[in-house]
Amino acid sequence: MHEMGIAQQVVNIAVAAIPAHLEDPRVEQLNLRIGKLSGVVPQSLLFYLEILSKDTPLEGAKMHIEEVPAATRCNACLHEWPSEEAVFDCPKCESGDLNVISGREFDVVSIDMAD
Ligand SMILES: [Zn+2]
Repeated sequence: MHEMGIAQQVVNIAVAAIPAHLEDPRVEQLNLRIGKLSGVVPQSLLFYLEILSKDTPLEGAKMHIEEVPAATRCNACLHEWPSEEAVFDCPKCESGDLNVISGREFDVVSIDMAD
């Protein structure tokens, strides 16, 4: 259930990002970016976010999740390709010298405040 810990971090980050001068702040939308390889299950994260945002300025906020597809690059031939799961060799040159170049993101991108 590691999404619960992650959801708590998201709530902490988002609450900390609220401008301090606002009285009775309300977050309208929370924007997250989650890589396909991050190991975070969006549905599960949303479930915990809803529970943990109760009695915070995030309560009732829309959660917008942008899922980032995974991509891998071969360091030998510089071929890049989308990869949904872990790969161990390049489909072009069979080199094992690979870098995951995207898909591991997990970011709180921004919060939109209600007027
Ligand atoms: Zn290659």
